[in-house]
Amino acid sequence: EAFTSMRLSRPILKGIAAMGFVKPTAIQARTIPIALQGKDICGSAVTGSGKTAAFIIPVLERLLFRPKNVATTRVLILVPTRELGVQCHSVAVNLAKFSDIQFCLCVGGLSTKTQEVELRARPDVVIATPGRLIDHIRNSRSFNLDSVEILIMDEADRMLEDGFADELNEIIKNTPKSRQTMLFSATMTDNVDDLIKLSLNRPVRLFV
Ligand code: AMP
Repeated sequence: EAFTSMRLSRPILKGIAAMGFVKPTAIQARTIPIALQGKDICGSAVTGSGKTAAFIIPVLERLLFRPKNVATTRVLILVPTRELGVQCHSVAVNLAKFSDIQFCLCVGGLSTKTQEVELRARPDVVIATPGRLIDHIRNSRSFNLDSVEILIMDEADRMLEDGFADELNEIIKNTPKSRQTMLFSATMTDNVDDLIKLSLNRPVRLFV
């Protein structure tokens, strides 16, 4: 199986080819078709499995395939650390290089002021750590999550270990119930299970 046999638009296939990816990894082969159907997904996948592209590719496809002419933030990706945010942002920007999809990286260690200006422009995709995103939601009246269509939680176990449970709950509550949600976690602890019950609607479970 190759990426070209998946139902993906030209600009996405070009982005994938430019990254040098030929064959989808196991997690990508399983996640992409299900995510494209709009289903909730709960996946156990570790770093190195290609999981970043597994959730970014269907997100980009949705943004291209169902475009909106108003600037709204339609996708929120939550990651536990600044480093993972930087990596995820880099993969996303590279895969989206043949599109005009806009991204904002909203993690600690970067200027809050600059992020505020970027968020006010309603980027299509926001990649954030829970702590920094909560600061923006609470302190700036100019940004909210009302238009989020897809919520992704990457390395959910680490976000919970890092004590972000309250922030996660508050963020989830601020997104529309009608959203599609994908959660990835290296381990499935009781806390992760609680988060799954709270945030996912009849998820497809993928263990790769
Ligand atoms: P991740 O698990 O998302 O951190 O990705 C691990 C590494 O695999 C990254 O360096 C990716 O660029 C690379 N990668 C992801 N998908 C593919 C693919 N389909 N073919 C080759 N390399 C890939």
